[in-house]
This record gives sequence, C-alpha cells and structure tokens, in this order.
Amino acid sequence: MLKCTFCGRRAVYNRRYAGVLLCDRCLLKSVERRFRRAMAKHRMITPGKRVAVAVSGGKDSVVLTRMLTEYCKLKNCELVAITIDEGIKGYREAGLPIARENAKSLGVEHVVASFKRAFGATLDQMVELAKRRKTGLKPCTYCGVTRRSLLNQAARELGADKLATAHNLDDEVQAIMLNYVRADFSRLHRLGPTYPPREGFVPRIKPLREIPEKEVALYALLRGLRVHLGVCPYAGGIHGEIRDFLNRLEANHPNSKFMILRMFDRMKPHLAKVTPEFETRGCENCGEPTSTNICKSCDLLRGLGLERKQKMLISGEFR
Ligand code: SF4
Ligand code: ZN
Ligand code: ZN
Repeated sequence: MLKCTFCGRRAVYNRRYAGVLLCDRCLLKSVERRFRRAMAKHRMITPGKRVAVAVSGGKDSVVLTRMLTEYCKLKNCELVAITIDEGIKGYREAGLPIARENAKSLGVEHVVASFKRAFGATLDQMVELAKRRKTGLKPCTYCGVTRRSLLNQAARELGADKLATAHNLDDEVQAIMLNYVRADFSRLHRLGPTYPPREGFVPRIKPLREIPEKEVALYALLRGLRVHLGVCPYAGGIHGEIRDFLNRLEANHPNSKFMILRMFDRMKPHLAKVTPEFETRGCENCGEPTSTNICKSCDLLRGLGLERKQKMLISGEFR
C-alpha cells in the first residue's frame, strides 16, 4: 500500500510535480488551502461584497461554488450563481439542472441567462446560420464572445462587485499558450488571477487558477459532489491540440504547467507596459462596454442577421 507523505494513511493521489503522495484527507485540505491562499494573496473578495459565480454544472464550477459558499459566509459576502444557457442540444440541457440543484442545496441564489432570450437564437442555431452564410467562423468564437458579454451583463445587473469563474490551472495555461500561438497580445495581457476594474466590466477573479484540473476532479469525487461530465459537441480544434500537447509535456516533465504559469505571471507586469490601454464606451447597439462603436458580440450577431436586445435580463426574463 502506498502511503500519504504527510500522515501515512492510504494514498489516493500522486502529486508528481511536487514529489508527494496524498491521502483523501490531505488532498482535500491542500486543495482548499490553495483556494484560500489565492483568495487572500490577490485580495479577490473583501468583506461585505456581492459576488457572482459562473456555474455550468461541470466539476470546476460546482467545486468553486461550494468553496465560495463557505468563504462568503466567513467574509459576510452575498453569493449569486449565474448559468449561461447557450442552447447546445444534449449538452447544456444536461448541465443546467445540476447547476440549479447544486445552488439550491447550498442555499445560493441562482439565475439563468439564455442566448435564445438575449440574442434571439441558440448557439446551435447560430452555428447553422454561420454555415449557411459561410462566415468561416467556428462555434467557439460565437460562443466565447457572446457568453463573456452576457455573463458580464448578468453580473452587473445583479449588482455583483466581483465575478468568479472556475478556470483551473490547465485552463489558464491553455489560454496562455493559445494566445502565444495566435500572437494575441491584448488577450494575453488580460489573463491572470484578477483583472483590474474598468467602466462597465465586473472585475473577474479566478480562485482555482493554481489548482490542476485533475485535483479539482478528485476533489469533486471525494466530496461526493454531483457534476455534469458531458463534453461540448463543438469542443476540439486548436484548443484540444494545445490541451493534449500540455498534458504530454506534463507527463514527461512534471511541473511544466506550473512553470508556464509562473513565467507568465512574472512577465505580466512587463506586458502591461507595452500593451496600449483603450478607452471603453457603450456599444451603439446594446450599450455594453467596448473599445469600438459596436461591440464584438453585436458585430458577430449582425453577421448572422441577428440583433442583441438593448434592455433585458434581471426582472422576468432572467428567472
Ligand atoms: Fe462554447 Fe466552444 Fe466551450 Fe462548446 S467548447 S461551450 S462551443 S466555447
Ligand atoms: Zn494524508
Ligand atoms: Zn453591442
């Protein structure tokens, strides 16, 4: 029997990048400690605030909501969970009830904002329109841009001071690498544990950023949390290739993911010096913050013959 490096109980996990074996109890404690450390180090939440958390029903967001519920109680903060229903048949409809049940069991207010209501079409319908109009754009482009915008709008309308997302170490390192590959300076510069406040944007925080995906999954399993395990039918492409590459690198050279993250964090202050700051204003169509006249999501939607509604959400339509 392999024993836990710290307490001698039966080990359930080999944390290769640190050269230690962990039992169930030590793993749970360690993951929770990392979450709290990230919260404190980056002053992610201050007492008395209203915090929104993006919840899909997947393991990362379910784990994050649970940890935030405890943390917010301690800090006297209010927590509200937001699920974006993109309208992906067979995928989101399976995750949504889990997100709802999870929030209910934790006593957390839960709100759903759907693509269909906000934009007049589900993501599946957008993908069909994009094919017909031969836009050449991938489903993830439509999904990523419009979801980010809708999430921000929802969090702002709900009066949130912070918006927590469940990006884990693997997600963050994939995003770093993807932006290197695409030479996307401005997106690269926006990565990090927090993002400074800007007019119209609810500041984002990523409390799980230093926890590997495997450890989040094991945490959910050991805590007996109900999570949605489905994979989006549109997933793949360059994101999948980068994920596979990073997993191979980590298997052959443990600690690579953390090294990439650390390197990026050291470079980030220098990136800020060479990345031009842009002024934000309200989009002429939907009023959401943007650096151009029309925001990226309205631009994409117009290319499909769709229109974003100017006022929406909170009352009635949201719930
Ligand atoms: Fe959206 Fe792409 Fe993620 Fe699917 S894989 S949920 S389409 S961003
Ligand atoms: Zn132990
Ligand atoms: Zn707009």
